[in-house]
Amino acid sequence: MTHSLSTLIQQTYDSALKNGDLLFFEAEHAVKDSNGIKFEITYAPTLAQKPHHESAGTDDNKKKAKINPFLPPHPALKVKDLDEHTVVLNKYCVVPHHALIVTKEYKSQTQPLFPEDLAATWKCMTTAYGYTPAMAFYNCGPYSGASQPHKHIQILPLLKEQPQPPIKALYNQIQERKAGQIYVLDKLPFVHVMTPLDRSFIDSCSDNPEPLGDYLGQMFFGLLDAMFQQMRKHAEPSRETSYNFLMTNDFMMMVPRSSEIANMNGLQVSINSLGFAGMLLVRTLEELNTMQQYPDLLELLAQVGFRWNPDAEPDVEQ
Ligand code: AMP
Repeated sequence: MTHSLSTLIQQTYDSALKNGDLLFFEAEHAVKDSNGIKFEITYAPTLAQKPHHESAGTDDNKKKAKINPFLPPHPALKVKDLDEHTVVLNKYCVVPHHALIVTKEYKSQTQPLFPEDLAATWKCMTTAYGYTPAMAFYNCGPYSGASQPHKHIQILPLLKEQPQPPIKALYNQIQERKAGQIYVLDKLPFVHVMTPLDRSFIDSCSDNPEPLGDYLGQMFFGLLDAMFQQMRKHAEPSRETSYNFLMTNDFMMMVPRSSEIANMNGLQVSINSLGFAGMLLVRTLEELNTMQQYPDLLELLAQVGFRWNPDAEPDVEQ
């Protein structure tokens, strides 16, 4: 009998947790409204026990000396083999059932996502959690908040009561959205691009990875291209490219990154794709209190992205 991905994730999670192969960090959640986005702040004080991984930085020798946790993944955390990827549970999770889609062969986290990565991600994202929708994200490059250099996309179940990431509230304000069109939101003070997905096309080929991957790849590279166009207008060209990528069951978003760490009144906060989804993680009470009182969380995100250049030529409407 073959089990569904959702059942496999739950069974693997339960046994890995019981046997101590997976660590779940208890967290408290707070909500802070900033510019119409209800940011979810997750406070996980015991996360300090998690071994510290250096960021996926630029020092190749250091990376080679490190053990790659995905080659091979720990057998107790392995959920399922796909054609070119393996679904693995996050060993250190704050959200139960947080899973990673890792390439079977070593590929670099600085690569973009290709059709096969996106088709596998869509399939997993839409079948991983029978109980609620999911979101996928990819932290690409040394300033993206990634801690592992081996290519891995992540999927996370969303809250039943709020089955979309908080950033969706702004996305919903785009009038007359058209699938495949690239949008930029005035309210966000940093370079980003978004595009709605054509659900009826995706649903028509969801059992056929090739057209699904081609379609999602086209959307991904369209966004990447639009992001580079924005970067040419708004940022210095010299840095290594890093970006965060989000995908839900109806849109994609990409945000280029200038640094990993935001400075919040002297406290250092590491931000990855989830921050741009409207989900921030803190580890100490001081960080929690400071974040709750911080006047504008979008400003915190702007610090680690690229602010709009006020002198840039305005975009031409197409
Ligand atoms: P990122 O930090 O975005 O690169 O994501 C890497 C993820 O891998 C983090 O969520 C880690 O908690 C997780 N992780 C680290 N080591 C392991 C491991 N040995 N097995 C599974 N997941 C891991």
